[in-house]
Amino acid sequence: MDLAAVTRLLPSLAALHTELVLLSGGEPLLNPDWAAIAEILRRHGLQVWLLTSGLALSKYAARAAKLFDAITVSLDGTDAGTYRAIRGLDAFDKVCAGIRGAADHGMPPGIRVTVQRANYRQLPAFVVLAKALRARQVSFLAVDVANPHAFGRTDDFVSDLALKPEDLPEFEQVLRAVEQDHAEDFRSGFIAESPQKLRRIHQYFAAIHAQAPYPPVRCNAPEFSAVIGATGRVQPCFFIAGAADARVSSATENPQYDLDDVLNRQDMTQLRTAIQMGARRECTTCVCSLWRDRSNIGSAAAFTKSASEAAT
Ligand code: SF4
Repeated sequence: MDLAAVTRLLPSLAALHTELVLLSGGEPLLNPDWAAIAEILRRHGLQVWLLTSGLALSKYAARAAKLFDAITVSLDGTDAGTYRAIRGLDAFDKVCAGIRGAADHGMPPGIRVTVQRANYRQLPAFVVLAKALRARQVSFLAVDVANPHAFGRTDDFVSDLALKPEDLPEFEQVLRAVEQDHAEDFRSGFIAESPQKLRRIHQYFAAIHAQAPYPPVRCNAPEFSAVIGATGRVQPCFFIAGAADARVSSATENPQYDLDDVLNRQDMTQLRTAIQMGARRECTTCVCSLWRDRSNIGSAAAFTKSASEAAT
């Protein structure tokens, strides 16, 4: 999505009273227009967040610190070997340098950890590392192995990423140790989730192995947010696709730039109703639900708080 496509969306974003735009990747900083996009969104009164793998953050730390209202970096290992094993890249030091670089320029990033079999023993080490890197916060999210849309899957495949049944007792001990040793970090909000919320990650992996029900999900994200993909495809959330032709800014074949119109097509409205009624299977196993009180739906501050609690 280039600057021209984002510019065409501006009237729609204004009409919808949009308050906050999250630029997400992969690595959005590889988009040659990233700075111009962030600038134009800010100039139009929007808050702009960056969610990044951190691969290019050290290169652009000064500029990113100036242009974004918040930065979150995905970091899935506390050492080079674990990072390489999970990401397939030798980039641990580079990502850490990006986090430090943004902090040096006055924008300490949040760190988001996707908890999985290769790193669950490192939970306490992530908290220590986040402090050493001068991060603003650390948050934990279970790796999504149950949602049929994660990794483009369509079958019931359970990947090696998930904890195995024999890992669960050890994960329980790890969680207990984090609760005991980092009580102050929970209290201060440095660890974004509450101890109870971290225990949902354990329950999620237990549910994958039919040892527990999935943790209950409460989510109204599609009522106040939407996802626009790089090709202009509009979705109610990251996990549920809209119709293939529900898209904006897809150049010549469908010059439709009105996000309001796309979001309020009959099929998109019906999709949101189905989500509200609990009729979508994706929601049952979702690792990334987000609830926001209706009274606060117009408040970016409330969204900021809820989103960090939900670990993006
Ligand atoms: S629970 Fe998950 S899948 Fe369902 S609407 Fe919320 S974010 Fe989307």
